[in-house]
Amino acid sequence: MPTRNVVILGSGCAGLTAAIYCARAGLQPLVIEGREAGGQLSLTTLVENFPGFPVGIQGPQLIENMREQAAAFGAEFASGDVVAAQLGQRPFALQLDDAGAEPLRTHTLIIASGARARWLDLPSEQALIGHGVSSCATCDGFFFRGKDIIVVGGGDSAMEEALFLTRFAASVTIVHRRAEFRASKIMLDRARGHEKIRWIPNARITEVLDLAKKEVTAVKLESTDGAAQRWEMPIAAVFLGIGHVPNTQPFRGQLATDPDGYLVTRDYVHTQIEGVYACGDVQDRRYRQAITAAGTGCMAAIEVERFLAEAH
Ligand code: NAP
Repeated sequence: MPTRNVVILGSGCAGLTAAIYCARAGLQPLVIEGREAGGQLSLTTLVENFPGFPVGIQGPQLIENMREQAAAFGAEFASGDVVAAQLGQRPFALQLDDAGAEPLRTHTLIIASGARARWLDLPSEQALIGHGVSSCATCDGFFFRGKDIIVVGGGDSAMEEALFLTRFAASVTIVHRRAEFRASKIMLDRARGHEKIRWIPNARITEVLDLAKKEVTAVKLESTDGAAQRWEMPIAAVFLGIGHVPNTQPFRGQLATDPDGYLVTRDYVHTQIEGVYACGDVQDRRYRQAITAAGTGCMAAIEVERFLAEAH
């Protein structure tokens, strides 16, 4: 298999923007789409803050448009994920999750593998994923029409999930471990103003019931403000909106990460290995927006162009 100029790992906003720029530069990028093709935008609904869309655009449509744009300039796409990488040799080698596939060889690599949903990591929660426990309101909200639902979290994701779920649910209760919310004022105000949304601050879920029935029927809660209260609340579904964990597994031990696992970059997108760049949510714990992911995707592509021009 010929050595590629550039492989882009991830097909969210960062990866696809990098693909558009690399493709327009004639580098024929190969995009490895990753396990969650399209990234987090493909799981969201209306995006109102991406410039250029005065009435907003649906997240999946925005991603589809970017993919089409990259393909039109010659980007190639491969499904699957990278499970191992050798970055200590040149060209770099990448092993895909298709065990039979030959390792991919590439002169440069753009890591745009994003981040995945964080869970509470309770055994009962894990056992009931897909049976009333979910991290994706747009995927699973429909199943809980007319039911009472909990959303866990105090950031924009939790507010967005809660607001979306009001379309289906009889009620949505936001359970948050503190009394202060990280969510932006506009999202918090919207949620606060919604008649179907209720609030349980200063509380955490300790168990999701009912494992025997293999469906969510209730949760056990406890207070977090020292009041030492414990109670049970009947509920039909629990949606997690508690943030994300960066997808860096294949690069562990080879690229520096911060204590939460985000890839450490300097000069915006450079990792410590020349020719390996990181962009989007896998390296950005601060802004984590579609537009900033697109911006760093563009930067990574320009760095690839420069690196290849200097190397050849
Ligand atoms: P986030 O801002 O980091 O918020 C995560 C929330 O989950 C926090 O309230 C946190 O509580 C809580 N949490 C974390 N771990 C927990 C645990 N183990 N148990 C209970 N609660 C836990 O993450 P996010 O809401 O996903 O937002 C990430 C970024 O994306 C932000 O920049 C946000 O603005 C952006 N975003 C924007 C939109 C939009 O504009 N439409 C939508 C979604 C996300 P603490 O506060 O106590 O730490």
